[in-house]
Amino acid sequence: MKLHEYQSKQLFAQRGIPILKGKVASTAAEARDIAVELGGRAVIKAQVLVGGRGKAGGVKVAKDAQQAEEYAAQILAMNIKGLPVRKVLVDQAAEIKTEIYLGITNDRAAKCPVVIASMAGGVEIEQVAKESPEKVIREHVNPFLRLRDYQVRNVAAGIGLPHEHWKAFGEIAAALYQTYWDTDATLAEINPLVINGANQLLALDGKIVLDDNALFEHPDLAEMRDLDEEAAAETEARKYGLSYVKLDGEIGCMVNGAGLAMATMDIISHFGGTPANFLDVGGGASSEKVAAALRIILSDKNVKAVLFNIFGGITRCDEVARGILKALDEVPTGVPMVVRLVGTNEAEGRKLLAEAKMITATSLADAAQKAVAAAKNK
Ligand code: GDP
Ligand code: MN
Repeated sequence: MKLHEYQSKQLFAQRGIPILKGKVASTAAEARDIAVELGGRAVIKAQVLVGGRGKAGGVKVAKDAQQAEEYAAQILAMNIKGLPVRKVLVDQAAEIKTEIYLGITNDRAAKCPVVIASMAGGVEIEQVAKESPEKVIREHVNPFLRLRDYQVRNVAAGIGLPHEHWKAFGEIAAALYQTYWDTDATLAEINPLVINGANQLLALDGKIVLDDNALFEHPDLAEMRDLDEEAAAETEARKYGLSYVKLDGEIGCMVNGAGLAMATMDIISHFGGTPANFLDVGGGASSEKVAAALRIILSDKNVKAVLFNIFGGITRCDEVARGILKALDEVPTGVPMVVRLVGTNEAEGRKLLAEAKMITATSLADAAQKAVAAAKNK
């Protein structure tokens, strides 16, 4: 789960990272009032859960409250990478001398956190990392020892940070690590961490990505979820405990088990089709859960055929069949459906589905070929 910039910076500030004053607005008039409070000059920043807002024109420095209102109106009317802007952050504007990148993330290969830093921070950091990797410094952290002072000094020296900033940088790095640790984040990032006109270090931008698997331990953070920013299908899937990822293809897939779901998607591609989603209904899925899953699949207008691949073990095929019938009852559809049901209570499941007009298949290869053909004929 991603947090907005304003949320991330609040979590940073609570742990001592210096940020500038600001507030969130959802109308241009509100933005104007906030700019007045801040003394006129302000930066207006789109609050959408994607990177590259600056390059897309979603970050603008206004010279006074009047201009803050104009910029806020422009930015609130924008779509950034497909996401409508619903809120802007109105912050005090900073005078920037240097933009530093400082982030902490999980290095899965090294199985530990890694601090990443560069003096060439700002909106071009991806480019810098690609073209001048020597400008990006990495320091792995032993999670039991946590981030040590000498490591922060390594980083500061490695990026060539002037010595006068080392103390402030050390405090910020420690607080960033604390934020990353406390929130069970997979990423805690400040880009840019600036040196301003008064020679102070300030976090101008903030990004935190939380580990969904640890969210149950952080009800306060879970509450920060912005439902407006999430596709309705994803909200629905989470409610029913379904693992669902929307993709761009045409064949909706309902499968029990993540590995089987991956195999199903692979075999669809093998026979020339494209999967519309990854969907794992999990073990022992109830008919309610199956019905919700089918509703979610059918809500995707790209779906031209649905493939059910159920391997009954703990999951009972008759229960899955009931779920399918229930969903079809609620949302009648002309989309062709191919079913492959094997395992526990397979015969009962087949019998239940006999009346529904479904294409049955005996093997996974057979099912995938039939689904691909059905999608092409649609
Ligand atoms: P991002 O593009 O989504 O990462 O958004 P950022 O918050 O990082 O802003 C993008 C860029 O806008 C920064 O790298 C800065 O160069 C610039 N910027 C952001 N805030 C300010 C500010 O207060 N003053 C000035 N002069 N520039 C700013
Ligand atoms: Mn940024």
